[in-house]
Amino acid sequence: MRAQPKASHYIGGRYVESPEGHPFPSIYPATGEAIASLNSADEKTVEAAVAAAVEGQKIWAATPPAERGRVLRKAAGILRERNRALSELETLDTGKPLQETLVADAASGADCLEYYGGLAATLTGEHIDLGGSFAFTKREPLGVCVGIGAWNYPIQIACWKAAPALVCGNAMVFKPSEVTPLSALQFAEILTEAGLPDGVFNVVQGFGEVGAQLIAHPQVAKVSLTGSVPTGAKVASLAGEHLKKATLELGGKSPLIVFDDADVDNAVSAAINANFYSTGQICSNGTRVFVHTAIKEQFLDRLAERTVNAVLGDPMDEATSIGPLVSKPQLDKVLSYMEIGKKEGARLVCGGGSADVAALPDGFFVQPTVFADVKDGMRIACEEIFGPVMCVLDFDDEDDVVARANDTVFGLAAGVFTKDIQRAHRVIDQLEAGTCWINTYNLTPIEMPFGGYKKSGIGRENGHAAIEYYSQIKSVYVEMGDVEAAF
Ligand code: NAD
Repeated sequence: MRAQPKASHYIGGRYVESPEGHPFPSIYPATGEAIASLNSADEKTVEAAVAAAVEGQKIWAATPPAERGRVLRKAAGILRERNRALSELETLDTGKPLQETLVADAASGADCLEYYGGLAATLTGEHIDLGGSFAFTKREPLGVCVGIGAWNYPIQIACWKAAPALVCGNAMVFKPSEVTPLSALQFAEILTEAGLPDGVFNVVQGFGEVGAQLIAHPQVAKVSLTGSVPTGAKVASLAGEHLKKATLELGGKSPLIVFDDADVDNAVSAAINANFYSTGQICSNGTRVFVHTAIKEQFLDRLAERTVNAVLGDPMDEATSIGPLVSKPQLDKVLSYMEIGKKEGARLVCGGGSADVAALPDGFFVQPTVFADVKDGMRIACEEIFGPVMCVLDFDDEDDVVARANDTVFGLAAGVFTKDIQRAHRVIDQLEAGTCWINTYNLTPIEMPFGGYKKSGIGRENGHAAIEYYSQIKSVYVEMGDVEAAF
């Protein structure tokens, strides 16, 4: 098979197989062909991964932070050197066009490793003057952390979780999505090559139950999940039952608000990026595009004209800008929402069904789709579709659009387009979303904390903020005088 790894899992610095585990394929979404076959982790394998992590963590926690940082930065360099091969693998596993994976996947993972590698030696505690006596705080690791990934940005998600965890002195057992199991194994190999001690980063494969076994394991301190809201609820309740710390990066149905003074072409660019990049499979996508009625038809005309220029086809061709969806179930889900939109009475501006790519008849392709005249209560405006389906809604009044933008259980992201700087800040201040953009959309540099309000998540990834979620503070009181007692 085209992308068969040496074995399914990576534990204690080497590849490990679990012949008794449930076999599952990795499918290339452009052709439907199996490119690899893996076995899900059985109980013995889960045990071995946690045991390796416990041992690795002791060595790693005793490694000076500056040295931890050097290892992460070296791994970043190797990721960059192998960017093309890693990007091709990611394209095979996810179907995302090479045009994207070359710049957005391993490359953003490398940014993350570099960033936390640079922070390593700066993670200090504080000194608290108590008048003679004093206290100090230390930032200590949590122990063994579990990372559980989604399928849309597999290597980026592995890096976003591993880098802050490792820099704080934790070990990690990472379970990639069963849909995209491959690149995390390469990442684990690269970390070993960069000098990471064995057992500090391990990869086990499997479905949800393997994730649940890892979370419930008594030697695991924390879980960080990227996934859907229903999975987040299950993970939170299991973590709660075992009193484990949890970071949850979940789904969204984010608003992008375009006022009548906005630069229409920039707003159209942002709406395209916010709905069609990665074939619409991005958690923070601005899928509810509120456009002021004064510019609505102009906006829709430009959007339709530009969407025709999308190059849909072979994801390995660097000219392709839209690849297939990740899987057949995702294809069926997205097509069903396109039908729901039509039945609900939204106006179809473009797209609206599957797409034929002559050379790839079995690929999971759909047309980039725009619905206009969408009403707030329609299912296409309320539910996360996770495909290239944009809903355009009208508005006239600022207070009204803010209330409607916030009228959702989600709160991952939001964007505002206006040339009025006061209005931009006034609106952003009122939006219930963890990550917001003014006059752009979906840029997530590693320096900027990322995460959700409301049902879109708990905790933050990236930036200094992530350190809080992978470390704990120990306070130490130091008595400089005598100890008084009642008797
Ligand atoms: P999913 O929820 O189906 O699966 C996510 C991961 O959780 C997979 O690895 C899966 O095996 C695992 N899992 C499933 N059930 C589990 C359980 N009971 N216990 C432990 N682990 C379990 O999500 P998906 O379909 O892979 O990804 C798409 C979703 O992820 C979308 O909702 C999207 O918005 C969200 N997402 C969020 C972010 C973010 O940063 N906020 C980023 C990417 C994707």
